[in-house]
Amino acid sequence: MAKLITVFGATGMQGGGVAKALLEDQDFQVRAVTRNASSDKAKALQARGAEVVVASLDEPSTLGPALQGAHGVFVVTNYWEYLNKEREIKQGKAIADAAKAAGVKHVVFSGLENVQKIAGFPCPHFDAKGQVEEYMTSIELPMTFVRYPFYYENYISSLKPQKVEDVTYVLGVPMEGAEMDAVSAADMGPAVRAIFKNRAEWLGRTVGFSADRLTVQQHAEILSKHLAPKVFKASDMTADAFAQLGFPGADHLGNMFKFNRLHNPDRSVELTRQLHPAAKSFDTWVAENKEALLKALD
Ligand code: NAP
Repeated sequence: MAKLITVFGATGMQGGGVAKALLEDQDFQVRAVTRNASSDKAKALQARGAEVVVASLDEPSTLGPALQGAHGVFVVTNYWEYLNKEREIKQGKAIADAAKAAGVKHVVFSGLENVQKIAGFPCPHFDAKGQVEEYMTSIELPMTFVRYPFYYENYISSLKPQKVEDVTYVLGVPMEGAEMDAVSAADMGPAVRAIFKNRAEWLGRTVGFSADRLTVQQHAEILSKHLAPKVFKASDMTADAFAQLGFPGADHLGNMFKFNRLHNPDRSVELTRQLHPAAKSFDTWVAENKEALLKALD
């Protein structure tokens, strides 16, 4: 019988990729969670065969019903909606308690490192997920933690290349020449599906995703190759200077890039390809997303 997986964030990047991959596999049924069942994305999920239910991580009483009868649950929390660390921790603990109470057999949580603990400086969107990981472990949930790195998709959303001259654009990702792990977030669904398929193998493990580990200069070269005559360059801004840019969350992101450079968190191309052999390289992703990239540059 197909196993029922409840997917949080199913209308978003990470959960959307997970829901898509599970819907393509007869071994699974998908219960997609949203706060708004009438959105286009929720309707599209329903049209593709998902059961769409309304629940919110901010309302613990809605979580039990969303998990009822589920074999597994994929959980992603969205720090960036409120930029509030305590709220994200509360959401993570609420779903952990609900999964425990419902007897869910396999919880896959999209976590991250507790940077404050490891590096001694704050990075709230990491620290919150790190604290939730610690809580989930402490209550002995049957866990797999997945840690997503930088998304390729950031180049068409939050970190669009900035135009500096007629055809020249700068990538404002302050890695200071260091390599950085990255994935297409939408493309990681098959990796999460493989984790649900092989519960015994992945239970109790933490998987740091990466489909490509390149410098930002290499990102620029690949973008220049596919989007010529436009030319892309890596910014020479430091992570500390980025942290001072003043927009909401700039300091958190600056510290994140600094953490990535100084502590090189454990992300594995090898493990990711073991779970999802066709995980897209940056080159492939750019080739397939030229139109969206060009639109973002307009
Ligand atoms: P996204 O595309 O913005 O989607 C957010 C999803 O979260 C939506 O499906 C939304 O559902 C759902 N959601 C938000 N609040 C909710 C609540 N209270 N209850 C239930 N569902 C809720 O987000 P994403 O990119 O998949 O994930 C965001 C997270 O990824 C952030 O915490 C960020 O730190 C982390 N991350 C990002 C990167 C990166 O490079 N960008 C890398 C690693 C990790 P509805 O609106 O339909 O309710």
